[in-house]
Amino acid sequence: MKTIGFACTSADVPLEPFTFERRAPRENDIVMEILFCGVCHSDLHWSKNDWGWTVFPAVPGHEIVGRVIEIGSKVTRYKIGDHVAVGCMVDSCQSCDQCRKGEEQLCREGNTGTYGGFDRFTGDYTLGGYSKHLVVREEFALRMPDGLDLAKAAPLLCAGITTYSPLRTWNVGPGSRVGVIGLGGLGHMAVKLAVGMGAHVTVLSRTADKAEDARALGANALLVSSDEEAMKKAASSFDLIIDTVPVKHDLNPYMPLLDVDGTLVIVGQIGPVAEPSTVPLVLGRRRIAGSPIGGIRQTQEMLDFCAAKNILPDVEMIRMDEINHAFERMEKADVRYRFVIDMASLAAA
Ligand SMILES: [Zn+2]
Ligand SMILES: [Zn+2]
Repeated sequence: MKTIGFACTSADVPLEPFTFERRAPRENDIVMEILFCGVCHSDLHWSKNDWGWTVFPAVPGHEIVGRVIEIGSKVTRYKIGDHVAVGCMVDSCQSCDQCRKGEEQLCREGNTGTYGGFDRFTGDYTLGGYSKHLVVREEFALRMPDGLDLAKAAPLLCAGITTYSPLRTWNVGPGSRVGVIGLGGLGHMAVKLAVGMGAHVTVLSRTADKAEDARALGANALLVSSDEEAMKKAASSFDLIIDTVPVKHDLNPYMPLLDVDGTLVIVGQIGPVAEPSTVPLVLGRRRIAGSPIGGIRQTQEMLDFCAAKNILPDVEMIRMDEINHAFERMEKADVRYRFVIDMASLAAA
């Protein structure tokens, strides 16, 4: 089927309107009309070929919310008219130990990315959610719970699950002491989700300017990381620190903040970091860990949790033709806290 979207044809040109083909639905596929798509930092990296493996033309977008408009003959989970969502992956092998556990993001053969992946049957290059339609196997679609605002919910599909997953892995609940470094798209979701789980949440920031923002998001405290006295006082006072900073930085100042068996979990893909000292690690039995998105089952659990607790990202809605400007603003961290594209604006663009 023919569809329209926005793509970039090389790393140094802006995104522009693009017409392309989506595959005809297979028996277990659903066809979605996309209503909203969040704008993730990865979309920007992808469009600019920052990781060096972008294949052009590239259609980014992996925070996708829409409506089912067609279903394959063997689809059982969804019917036409259902509101559904798709996040960062659209397929996996479905048979390895990780897939069988519902951890498709960790598939031994690698999951298929919503964009920049290769279809497991045809080898075709996958194209993302900055488009009018998406065809996806039903196992990789999520059900949007009733009552969750569809427009605002889109960023839950990447920023939401990326921060929800470590909170669940490290058993955060009432009384847990959680720190969040970085207050962007991911960080603001980490705060809201951890607060929703009943944790005592502290935002860690280099300056005190973020105090009001942190409070508005529900955080209990702000710790200024450039304040040596305050940092010393906060030693051994966290069970889990979620580090969402999207650029290279030094982890060492944060290690002493962890209590015994505490974990600093990194969710941003930032490559090598400054040498971490083993002293606080070994002596305090502390850990440094990483965490990607969650599996499909956990992503559904996160959406249901957000609906039950009325947790939504703070978003700024934009038109499709504003995407290049939005990328520029995102590079300057000039957004509170996530852009979402209203896909109804695509036809006009
Ligand atoms: Zn993302
Ligand atoms: Zn697998």
